[in-house]
This record gives sequence, structure tokens and C-alpha cells, in this order.
Amino acid sequence: MKALVKTTPGPGAVLQQIPVPVPGPTDLLVKVKATALCKSDLDVIEWSPLVASSNLPLPLIMGHEFFGEVCEVGKMVKNFKAGDYITGETHIPCGYCHSCRTGNRHICSNNMGVVGRSIDGSFAEYICLPEVSAIKLDKSMPPAEGALMEPLATALHALSKAQVAGETVLVLGCGAIGLMTVELAKVFGATNIFALDIFQHKLEAARKCGAEVVINGREEDLVEVVLDATKGLGVGTVIETTGNQEVINKAVNALRVAGTLVFVGMIDHPLTFEEFMHKVVYRELTLTGIFGRKLYETWETLQMILDSGKLDLSRYVGAEIKLDEFEKGLELFPTTLGRVIMYP
Ligand SMILES: [Zn+2]
Ligand SMILES: [Zn+2]
Repeated sequence: MKALVKTTPGPGAVLQQIPVPVPGPTDLLVKVKATALCKSDLDVIEWSPLVASSNLPLPLIMGHEFFGEVCEVGKMVKNFKAGDYITGETHIPCGYCHSCRTGNRHICSNNMGVVGRSIDGSFAEYICLPEVSAIKLDKSMPPAEGALMEPLATALHALSKAQVAGETVLVLGCGAIGLMTVELAKVFGATNIFALDIFQHKLEAARKCGAEVVINGREEDLVEVVLDATKGLGVGTVIETTGNQEVINKAVNALRVAGTLVFVGMIDHPLTFEEFMHKVVYRELTLTGIFGRKLYETWETLQMILDSGKLDLSRYVGAEIKLDEFEKGLELFPTTLGRVIMYP
């Protein structure tokens, strides 16, 4: 089969012909119908400092956001059969450690597996996925939209960390997960949603997703705009997807006393807060992060939201290319609205 493989430490990745994997007793063999490029895949291809320090087992097939059809199941698989359509929960919990046994399987502390990082991923014609990480989806879902489920569930988990209903929410960064966060915040009943980016077309998309106030970080002062629009109070919740220190510090000033800041984006340098005692401690801010999606609460909630028909997923399908054209995908990534979808 065709696969996009990281072969050596350092920048780059290679398209290779390799054998179709053989599923183990608890695995599903899945034919990948569509897969999406995530910032973390770009980090692997470019070999960012964070990736370089994370001991990836090479060679490795990258990719973790996908939609596919189960074509074979291992002997011990109970809940899936050939012909089912699934997406992958990227995290693979051990099921037995303290985290797993106390409601935190998604952040398993016993060498948690990660699709496309510790086991082969979805940038290939087939992927082998442990049953525990497979999420059944509706057959009728367009493949490109099925490949959006993993980041969409990430946005949902981020919002679950804060009070959103009846609240004001500021979303930093309007990449795919930022835009999804805006739309989900609307579904959750946020009263006033602010969205920040430096690209005007992304801000226009944020407005379509439900943001009442969009802020171009290059032209406007984030803190001024937010304080003006909130009678000087600031927002109750900030969802951060930029990884940008300057933006994060501004957001702290745009956050209300006792507000919550949820970190979603990758930050590959030490983060410094200005006036930490005055801005964060004395104001009793809650700083928290997310990694992945709750197993399986986030997925169950997401299914109910999908069933409600309230989301327009087509707007997150930004570009559609073949896996062979992945280099074009890398170029398109920074400016594309939503995800770059690749078909193996
Ligand atoms: Zn991702
Ligand atoms: Zn565990």
C-alpha cells in the first residue's frame, strides 16, 4: 500500500510502497477513505524541537485524523465488524493505570499510545487501529467530514473545561480547531463570542461560525476591543490555540477576574507570564490545558450534537488533495480555512 512515512530524524517525509499491516487480536484493519493534515503532523514533517525531543519510533507512518471502513477485525474484537465506518480516537489508553481507572483514560499515564506518533498513522491506504480507540460513525457521513471528527472533538473537550452557557468566550486563533470552537460555543449557548486571528478570511469564517466580535490582531488591540465590548469586565473564558506568548499575555488582560484560560495549541518554548502574581494569582484565574478528548464522554456528546444537525461541517473542508500531493498540502495549510483533506 501507499504510505507517507517519516524515515529519518530531521525535516521531510517520503511516500513509500509498503505491505498492508496485519491486525493483531484486538485490532481493526481500516481502509482509509479520507485523512486530514493537523498542525502536529506538520511539526513531525518539519521536525520541530518538541517532536525532536519526543523519541518517535522511526520509520513511522504519520497522520491521526481520518475516516475509514473496517475491512477486517482481530479475533478478540467484540464491537466492530467489517463494513463499519469509523474514525480514530488518537489516544490509546492502557486501561489499567491510575489515570485510566479514575476517569482519565484519555491521558493514560502508562506509556499511552498515540496514533501517528507511537504507532503507524492514517497517511496511508490502510491503518491498523486498536478497538479501544475506534469510534463508530454513520456510514452516510461524507469521508472528508468524517476526517474532521477528531479535531472537532478536541474543540468540544476544550469547551468542557470552562463555563460556556450564558458566558462570554474569546477564541484565540481561527485555524480549524479555533473555528470549530466558535461554532460549538454558539451551540453551547455562549452569549458573546470573540475570535482573534491575523487573517481576514479566517475572521470572516469565524463570523459565519457564530462569532459576534472578530479581532484582527495585526490591526486592533485585543484587550481594548474585549474590554470595550464587555463594559470593562473582560471575558469569562479564553480558549487558546495560537501558542503565541504575546497573544496569551494579552488574553490574560482580556480575561475577567476568576476567569478560565484553556490551553489547546502547542507551545514549544517556556511560557512567560507578565506580572504573574497581579494578573493571574491575585485575580484567581484558572489556567488549564487539554490533551485529546475524554474517553468516551466527549465522543458521546459529539454524536448527540451531530445528530441535532446544528453543525455545518462542510465549511471545515478547506482543500481536498491526493495523498501523493502532500507537499502541496503543506503549502496550503497555513492559509486554508478548515482542514486540508487528503485522499489515499
Ligand atoms: Zn490533530
Ligand atoms: Zn492507563
